[in-house]
Amino acid sequence: MQFLSDNNSKRKMYFPVRGKALRLPIYFPSISSVKTGLSPFDYFTILQGLGQSHFLVSAFDIDKSFQREEFISNLQEIIQNDGSIILMDSGNYESWWMRDKNWVLDSFNSILKYNVSDLAFCYDNQLPPNDIIENVTTIANSISASQKISKSSSIIPIIHCNKEYLVDAVLELHSQTNYEMVSIPERILGEGLLERIATVTNLRKALNNLDNYTYIHLLGTGNPFSLLLLSLAGADSFDGLEWCQTVVNSKTAVLYHFQQRELILDDCNFCKSGLDYTLSTLGHNINFYRNWMKEIQDAIETKKEIDILKVWFDSDFISALGKIWH
Ligand SMILES: [Zn+2]
Repeated sequence: MQFLSDNNSKRKMYFPVRGKALRLPIYFPSISSVKTGLSPFDYFTILQGLGQSHFLVSAFDIDKSFQREEFISNLQEIIQNDGSIILMDSGNYESWWMRDKNWVLDSFNSILKYNVSDLAFCYDNQLPPNDIIENVTTIANSISASQKISKSSSIIPIIHCNKEYLVDAVLELHSQTNYEMVSIPERILGEGLLERIATVTNLRKALNNLDNYTYIHLLGTGNPFSLLLLSLAGADSFDGLEWCQTVVNSKTAVLYHFQQRELILDDCNFCKSGLDYTLSTLGHNINFYRNWMKEIQDAIETKKEIDILKVWFDSDFISALGKIWH
């Protein structure tokens, strides 16, 4: 598959942030108040307890937290003391689900100014105008308004548009502003895995023609198979809630209902521990994601992409991939 070897020679294996080098592809476990069991502050505390080196938190959830002040000071402390890398989302996902129409660019910027993150996604427009230039100009303005306020964070653009216009929109953004990472919601990439893989592959090919490498982050991608396939398609970074919404079978990489871990116990330290159900399940999941991303990183680094595909997928699916990556 020619694309895989072409892209292997171009892709970056590390992303530099705050003097650290994050190994790629990377999965950021997301913390969110939407469709999850515990409060964002509790998830944050658990991830810190698990020694998680990087995670995503929402500006909306920080602002609305019952432990708002403690949350802000703990995040600041992490940055000052060389702790985990913090990626912050604008909070539009949460404010949309909570139907909070008062969450505006200024609200996001009011959290950004506390310097509680290393990287932050821009305040995004979920219903953008159809006109690409108008859409991209709004994004460029949002980035510039937030970048002026934040000392600690690089602001990362999010592009919402029809997948047919994605490459044009990303290239137009390049002509309007400088950025090294672009993020795209996974759901706009198309229907089904193959279409999504094809969309990312096309975008990666277009970006590889530019002088500087542009990292691709996919928003809302945490299914293990999607992480593997979209990494090979050229995405570098992901965030998702699966680590706290489901439980993963570590032998098959299939996700189960969060309450079904007893069906798929393994010999990880958490399954063997006496911790309560929620804590041991979250630990089990985080442990799996660390190993899973390492497996993907190692496969890419040793140019064994085809071998890893053969481990996880049947020959029919691999030949369908071959049509995209020929
Ligand atoms: Zn386990």
